[in-house]
Amino acid sequence: MNREWLEKDFYKELGISSGATQDEIKKAYRKLARDLHPDKNPGDTKAEERFKAVSEAHAVLADPEKRKEYDEARRLFASGGFGRGGYAPGGGYAGGGGFSNEFNLGDIFGGAAAGAGDGGLGDILGGLFNRGGTRTTSRPRRGSDVETETTLGFREAAQGVTVPLRMTSPSPCTTCHGSGAKPGTSPRVCPHCNGTGVISRNQGAFGFSEPCDDCRGTGSIIDDPCTDCHGTGIQNRTRTITVRIPPGVRDGQRIRLAGQGEAGLRGAPAGDLYVTVHVSQDKVFGRNGDDLTLVLPVSYSELVLGTTVSVPTLEGRVGVKVPPGTADGRTLRVRGRGVPKRGGGAGDLLVTVKVAVPQKLDDEASEALRRYAEAEKAGGFDPRAGWAGA
Ligand SMILES: [Zn+2]
Ligand SMILES: [Zn+2]
Repeated sequence: MNREWLEKDFYKELGISSGATQDEIKKAYRKLARDLHPDKNPGDTKAEERFKAVSEAHAVLADPEKRKEYDEARRLFASGGFGRGGYAPGGGYAGGGGFSNEFNLGDIFGGAAAGAGDGGLGDILGGLFNRGGTRTTSRPRRGSDVETETTLGFREAAQGVTVPLRMTSPSPCTTCHGSGAKPGTSPRVCPHCNGTGVISRNQGAFGFSEPCDDCRGTGSIIDDPCTDCHGTGIQNRTRTITVRIPPGVRDGQRIRLAGQGEAGLRGAPAGDLYVTVHVSQDKVFGRNGDDLTLVLPVSYSELVLGTTVSVPTLEGRVGVKVPPGTADGRTLRVRGRGVPKRGGGAGDLLVTVKVAVPQKLDDEASEALRRYAEAEKAGGFDPRAGWAGA
């Protein structure tokens, strides 16, 4: 027994009174099914919805056992007999899927009955139109979340970038419009379950419903499968969406893009898109949180005498002043020229100086350096003063 049944008026769906005879039910259903059949209303989702609703109503009311169960449950429901926590009549449920959809009469009646199993009739009938795809229920459902990944260049990640993301997801086959049947043919109603997709077995006061074996719960049989989707009614379609990656994203970070996942059914909100970002290395820059780092090659004389060097940043270049007497390996900070921060502003640029030693000097430079070394010694400079106990 599906909880959704309680919220539905199957008699109204078929346009008959609650006292209708089995004959009247059959007649009402036949007429509606003929008018609303998807083959007659291709692409009309409203007719499709109605057809499903009518089929569901008929599947319950045409079975005297099930009808009795339904009438009884409705009566109890109306009298407040289902005053179980959490259920607000007519309130509907936010979200969907999962356990809360199912209402197991066995809970109330001491385990005498089992539920209809995973997914109610609505789900099974959904298979007629959307075979094997996203489970269809009669209630709006939020779209699924989607996971994907992308690799960004170092500077793109630091500054933010708009990237196209290709995503492959299952969607109804365009050749057969999701029916799974070769164009020009249509699935026929499964004779074993009369198109309901379920077989009822009676056990005590209540019935078990099981998916029909012949049609595997879809309610229809395909004699001539569509060659493009091999009868599944599903194709993997690739879509490309453009997403804005915010500045400052780090390697391995997973970012959520709300509403960019799979579309919801019947106007329900779309799911979210999660993008795991890989950031490639840069030849010049490194990162330390919001700070941008770089190593600046300098000569010994530049460190001793001081200089100003033009260094690259994410946006343009900046002159970095190396004061006279700067030690090798010292890090100079340029404020606000690092990676943009989330709430505005930016980290710093950290410039670490590193002496580049010439491998070869011409005679003039060698001679000058020798003279310099002597002058240095004479001046009293000892690089190892106070070092290692000296
Ligand atoms: Zn197909
Ligand atoms: Zn069947």
